[in-house]
Amino acid sequence: MSETGVSVRSTCPFCGVGCQVDLQIDENHITRVDAPFDVAPNYGRLCTKGRYGLDYVRHPSRLTYPMIRKDMGSLPRKPVGLGGFRRASWDEALDLAAEKLAGIVQEHGGDALGTFTSAKATNEDTYIFQKFVRGVLGTNNIDHCARLCHAASVAGLQITLGSSAMSNSIAEMKDLEVLLVTGSNTSETHPVISTFLREAVVRNGAKLIVIDPRRIEMSNFADHYLRLRPGTDVVLFQALAHVIVEQGLVDQDFLDKRVEGLEEYLPSLENYTPEYAEEVCGVPAKEIRAAARLYGSANAAAIYWGMGISQSTHGTDNAISLANLALLTGNIGRPGTGLNPLRGQNNVQGCSDSGGLPNVYPGYQLVSDPEVREKFEKQWGVELDPEPGLTTMEIVDAAGNGTIKGYYVMGENPMMSEPDLLHARHVMENLGFLLYQDIFMNETGEYADIILPAVSFAEKDGTFTNSDRRVQLVRPAIKSPGEARPDWEITQELARRVEEKLGVKDSAGFDFGHPAEIWDEMASLTPPFQGISHKRIEQESGVHWPCPAPDHPGTPYLFSEDFPRGKGKLTPIAYRPSLEQPDEEYPLILSTGRVLYHWHGGTMTRRSKLDDIYPEALVEIHPQDAGDLGISSGEWVKVRSRRGEIEVKTLVTERSPVGTVFLPFHFAEAAANILTQDARDPQAKIPDYKVCAVAVEKR
Ligand code: SF4
Repeated sequence: MSETGVSVRSTCPFCGVGCQVDLQIDENHITRVDAPFDVAPNYGRLCTKGRYGLDYVRHPSRLTYPMIRKDMGSLPRKPVGLGGFRRASWDEALDLAAEKLAGIVQEHGGDALGTFTSAKATNEDTYIFQKFVRGVLGTNNIDHCARLCHAASVAGLQITLGSSAMSNSIAEMKDLEVLLVTGSNTSETHPVISTFLREAVVRNGAKLIVIDPRRIEMSNFADHYLRLRPGTDVVLFQALAHVIVEQGLVDQDFLDKRVEGLEEYLPSLENYTPEYAEEVCGVPAKEIRAAARLYGSANAAAIYWGMGISQSTHGTDNAISLANLALLTGNIGRPGTGLNPLRGQNNVQGCSDSGGLPNVYPGYQLVSDPEVREKFEKQWGVELDPEPGLTTMEIVDAAGNGTIKGYYVMGENPMMSEPDLLHARHVMENLGFLLYQDIFMNETGEYADIILPAVSFAEKDGTFTNSDRRVQLVRPAIKSPGEARPDWEITQELARRVEEKLGVKDSAGFDFGHPAEIWDEMASLTPPFQGISHKRIEQESGVHWPCPAPDHPGTPYLFSEDFPRGKGKLTPIAYRPSLEQPDEEYPLILSTGRVLYHWHGGTMTRRSKLDDIYPEALVEIHPQDAGDLGISSGEWVKVRSRRGEIEVKTLVTERSPVGTVFLPFHFAEAAANILTQDARDPQAKIPDYKVCAVAVEKR
């Protein structure tokens, strides 16, 4: 649709805050973006990305028709631009894609395929994608970028609580009493949330503890800023717990009623004295004691964290040790208390909720649970695989050893987001088949055999679920370019054709006419969604799950009565140093992350006017290190690791600590992941993007 002079309410497509936006439309362009004052979660606030970064939807490089690679079938495949493809009709492209996928299933089985759904797509897109992958292709090999951002938070919170979602709503933030922010550069990664957190401190007198190696903006507002050495989080969190126990700040009543594991847990804290933590983390023991006293003696305290905690080989341990702090002190299950992993992508919460993971159907129902499986088998009319599938990096491993023969990638860019990119590229060069579906060409699309053009958030109906579990609508505001189609519609067409080629008689059911129908089928199979419909979201501007019945109000904060696993579990943790430590050859630590003006692989923001403000990668380096190397701001340097090297300009700043450099991961021409390692957290299988050893030298 496209009208002149209309305002269309929608949801920002960038980060997990899920700000509501009023898109002002003129002649099929978004001419202005307003923020409605009366609705959650942003109440009139927007950051620069939501306000000024949406012009990417009308960028001339949008994909507008299906394409087929001219040299399809020749290996090793090389990355090619659009000139390496020829235009195709939808029928030709979909038929060929179906033939290739069905051929792999018939010859090698469904497990020879790896699929990537998208945390940028709607819940409905992912529901139908995973239904196709599981019900037609016959594999659970489906994953998405949650694996690369918060898989460790999910694993840690599942172990301790049995639920991995953020436990508090954004609306509670301004009334906080004590808040602990760690591993989250909130002002740049979740800017609107940072305004609520700062408001709690500046206007309402809340106390703030910031724990982060980088001197991020939030540290300017902190009562206690604990600048720890990268990778030593567990020691610091254990030391906070040590002091809380030592000083009798535990909530005994809460422990008696709602927590188990205290006896095994307490001895694990003994060695983690503040003095030991000072030695390992570099934070003065007296600061650790003061922060522990503040958190431990609060009536209500909440913890917020980001990828600085989860993107680590000990990310699960980090999340567990934060959960231990909340359980010890009873700071969970009441307004203004809780554990809050701030989710990155706009719909990373919803993509996981909707079954975009290898081990669960929608609503985190285990594929290995026979009762659950039977429910889905009955609805879909197929037999389903009881074995969990492969995670993103396991898919790359399996493609590397030849077990995986083809990928179906919808709206993801593994050729930017995978660690140790040169290795991932080598694997891609030898992959048998790549089906790619997106709104733009990107580094992954350059390897594709078939390209299917999709529509943007501003051109379709559906829902996104934000970081605090609020399900919200997106609506068509402008006409989509050329022949681009909604992801759910493309996947549905593809599913029908693959079924035909596989000779499926009783279809799993791909005859949806609108995303609202897809939502209804998902909700009918998913207890926490059963009270939510598109109509209700429209009426209420959003509903927090769990919402098990139409008359249920939704759940802004979790765990008021109990935890999904019954009692919360205090879990002993031991410190494991990061795998790659600086040495003579690679004397600096590299940490990667985001900047305010860009988003992830840059596919969208680098095609917006925000790119004029922040047009190139800058590696942050401390003045002391820069002085030792004779480098000043703006100079080009080489950054080398054991995996590869890039060239990039420097920004000399005290924001990064001595011995650590920071590099944003948005820039293909200086791709940070050429340097990172694929060492993984053993439980969550998330790679370590925060600590690897590098050398910096003048170019
Ligand atoms: Fe969009 Fe996030 Fe900014 Fe809100 S805070 S406007 S959701 S990018």
